[in-house]
Amino acid sequence: MSNDQTVPYGSDVSAGTYECVDCGYQLSNESKTSLPPCPNPDNKLHTENSWKILSGQGDAKEDPYPDR
Ligand SMILES: [Zn+2]
Repeated sequence: MSNDQTVPYGSDVSAGTYECVDCGYQLSNESKTSLPPCPNPDNKLHTENSWKILSGQGDAKEDPYPDR
């Protein structure tokens, strides 16, 4: 069991920070009311097509990816 909460593309959400389950891309959703597809579909094979909710869960980790 994990605390991670994921929502599929297109889900209705509130503003917050989301991380692509498949590639780790972080999305700051300031104003949208539904989630877009990951903008990096070619970066890695996407099989989950979901976002992990980072904000509002109380245990947002440091970004584990030394990404740009
Ligand atoms: Zn992705």
